[in-house]
Amino acid sequence: MPKRWKVVITDCDHGSIDEEKEEFDRIGAELILAQVQREEDLMRICKEADGLINQYALLTRRVLANLLRCKVIARYGVGVDSIDLRTATDLGIVVANVPDYCVDEVVNQTIALILALVRKIVFFDQKVKSNQWDFRQGRPIYRIKEKTMGFIGLGRIGLEVARKISVFGVRVIAFDPYLERAPEGIELMSLDNVLRASDFISIHCPLNEFTRHLIGEREFKKMERKPFLINTSRGPIIDENVLIKALLEGRISGAGLDVLETEPPDCSNLLLKMENVILSPHAGFYSEESISELKRRTSKNVSDVLMGEWPTSVVNREVMGKTRSTISVY
Ligand code: NAD
Repeated sequence: MPKRWKVVITDCDHGSIDEEKEEFDRIGAELILAQVQREEDLMRICKEADGLINQYALLTRRVLANLLRCKVIARYGVGVDSIDLRTATDLGIVVANVPDYCVDEVVNQTIALILALVRKIVFFDQKVKSNQWDFRQGRPIYRIKEKTMGFIGLGRIGLEVARKISVFGVRVIAFDPYLERAPEGIELMSLDNVLRASDFISIHCPLNEFTRHLIGEREFKKMERKPFLINTSRGPIIDENVLIKALLEGRISGAGLDVLETEPPDCSNLLLKMENVILSPHAGFYSEESISELKRRTSKNVSDVLMGEWPTSVVNREVMGKTRSTISVY
């Protein structure tokens, strides 16, 4: 029996598309996994699609202008840099994303980095495995309770880290210029005051023109309490050369970094050789459950539009009133 709609996954690096298949079987849509990145291939394969799912392939103005029937593009994940948003909006195509599929994972990655840094878990692990059984090598280690943790950015992830870390008896302070009121139990203050007063600093703001190198020479100089610095947001928010200098000069106690300015890092990057630096390969978002949730919710964004409903998270809200399909709430 011919299917009602055709949905194309332009590209993806997930092991399977089981969740996607399940969703499109449910609504009677044909699903095609294209795995293409070149503009010409995208134009050919996506031309007749009613909906697209996209990961890295660039959906340029040319590709979008060639789409005859497409009503919705759903991006796996948060960012939609791969999609020419303005053209999509002009053409009446809804663009949707999944901004919160991995909050729990990033929150736990952040807390794991803090605990591992302060308790020197990775340092001790390496010593014990090279036959050195001596806790004194880890001196000094300070108690976590009653220390101050400063947040830069207090959105979905920052706020949840703040809530969880409070259980350790930590005082929570934060800088977030877009928050009007402080959430319960958290003191909002200026960036300089957060830098001055914190024993641990955790970064949770987006990367944009205002936050690129937000933490640079001037900011490291304000850190009076030799803090541990944790970054699970985006690498370029910290000026990495200044961070390396601050670590070499002992101005901060250590760093826990899930993200770097260049990913993967060059093997000459000094951060790779420092005992008080813990690194993970931009793994914060990942768990089997978060990926499965991402795949299900991305597919649902497409099927919602095809079925005439608004998806949960629309990126180009200006498209309302001029969509290619009639969308209402059934
Ligand atoms: P969010 O949008 O919910 O929260 C961001 C917060 O930062 C907001 O409260 C906003 O007001 C604040 N903010 C904006 N500009 C700021 C500035 N100049 N200074 C201080 N605060 C500022 O975002 P989220 O979902 O909590 O994500 C936070 C970060 O985590 C983002 O950078 C995101 O890219 C990153 N992230 C990383 C991973 C990973 O795998 N490591 C996964 C998901 C998200």
